[in-house]
Amino acid sequence: MAPTSERERQPLDFPSAALPLLHDAQLRGNVRHATDVIQGKRFRVVAEMPDWQSLREAGRQVRAHTLDYLDVYLEQFEQRCTAAGGHVHWARDTAEANRIVLQLAQNPTGRVIKIKSMTTEETGLNHALEAAGIQPIETDLAELIVQLGHDKPSHIVAPALHKNRHQVRELFVRAMNLPDLGDRPEDLAEAARVYLRQQFLSTPVAISGANFLIAETGGVCIVESEGNGRMCLTLPQKLISFAGIDKIIPRFSDLEVMLQLLPRSATGERMNPYNSVWTGVHPGDGPQEFHVVLLDNRRTEVLRDPEARETLQCIRCGACQNACPVYRQTGGHAYGSVYAGPIGAILTPQLALMERGQSLPYASTLCGACYEVCPVKINIPEILIHLRGRVVTGRPSYLRALHPEAMMMRGMQWMFLSETRFRLAQRFGRIAQRPWIRRSGWIERLPSILGGWTRTRDLRPLPQQSFREWFQARPSASTGSHSTLPPQVSSEPPEVPHG
Ligand code: SF4
Repeated sequence: MAPTSERERQPLDFPSAALPLLHDAQLRGNVRHATDVIQGKRFRVVAEMPDWQSLREAGRQVRAHTLDYLDVYLEQFEQRCTAAGGHVHWARDTAEANRIVLQLAQNPTGRVIKIKSMTTEETGLNHALEAAGIQPIETDLAELIVQLGHDKPSHIVAPALHKNRHQVRELFVRAMNLPDLGDRPEDLAEAARVYLRQQFLSTPVAISGANFLIAETGGVCIVESEGNGRMCLTLPQKLISFAGIDKIIPRFSDLEVMLQLLPRSATGERMNPYNSVWTGVHPGDGPQEFHVVLLDNRRTEVLRDPEARETLQCIRCGACQNACPVYRQTGGHAYGSVYAGPIGAILTPQLALMERGQSLPYASTLCGACYEVCPVKINIPEILIHLRGRVVTGRPSYLRALHPEAMMMRGMQWMFLSETRFRLAQRFGRIAQRPWIRRSGWIERLPSILGGWTRTRDLRPLPQQSFREWFQARPSASTGSHSTLPPQVSSEPPEVPHG
């Protein structure tokens, strides 16, 4: 499927995007602090659950089963939602989804209020609305911070996690003209509350995302912590819910599993303060017009790949981002997509075509921390390796053969196949590295294409003596003895005392 906008054509170059961020000490400090806090809370509430691993397995099974019968459950959802008075719209790609919403969002005030939705970020809906003369107003505090700062989200659950409260205060002072504002969390929350109150009361159209779409009832579920979602779901006349087709769960009772897994993994809470489920239209109660826009945007392509389809099990908790050592160094903006961190490294290339996102599957150390915390057990490291394979096999064969990494690997193979060559290479390496060793004793910069290794980290030089050389040079080695015990320790068995 062809890219649908200029924004979708731009290549995502993770190493280039990450480089300036690695030099931003403030940003790195903010990201590390925020992810540490969330991880600490998550650890405590997960430790309270003796059946956590069984719960994860139940979550995995619900999501995997849903993907196996996705067509069945989507049609069931459409039928039940329509029967309850809702309207379901199908969007093949981001442009079609935005077009549908633009038609539905027209209203005399020229404004819409929005609940945090990563799917609308994926389609660039805010830009499309603004271009059509409709002002989108984000009502989630973190999304409001991102919007007022003309910034981009850097985390699925906490989009403004890269900012600290002093920076948020400065932003609010500037954007809301509030010179007396303090920087305590309650001051900032109050300022946002006052700013948003009038919008809630006077805007007739709301746009929401969805955490889950329930096939059995045709209902939509949103969990949130601030109450802004509840306001958007009850006050406006018209509600447009926007969701990827992967957000389906089969039964209402599946929420029992999901609503235990999601808040614990996302924010380290036992339960979200606001859990809203709405189904269709009810006269005299809440929005009187209800639409659901179901977005494909290559999700069906992902579903076709048996080794990567697990990606669609994701419930967007962000736990993998908090645990990822790469994300914790760079923050989310380096990923060039609304989906950052490990989930972004596997989802974005698949949604944005592999040609654009080739660098993302390499934005990982494959340490497995993401897999361990994922509440629905997505094997992210395996999918990363699979996608790396797709990157390589997608290249023409002559390029594959001549790629510097491939040539280096062939050279390594040739060297490791012979002990003599290996020893010679060690000796040569010790001599060749000398000009690059700094007074600190570390190699701070390697030449040419090897320089990538030392761009953001120092390298320990090859030791002057290898383990084998040390072993053979020991005095006992020359006498033929194989004892490795230090001289002061007797190798005789201890004497058994007689009674
Ligand atoms: S991949 Fe797993 S841990 Fe990461 S956001 Fe999705 S559900 Fe959460």
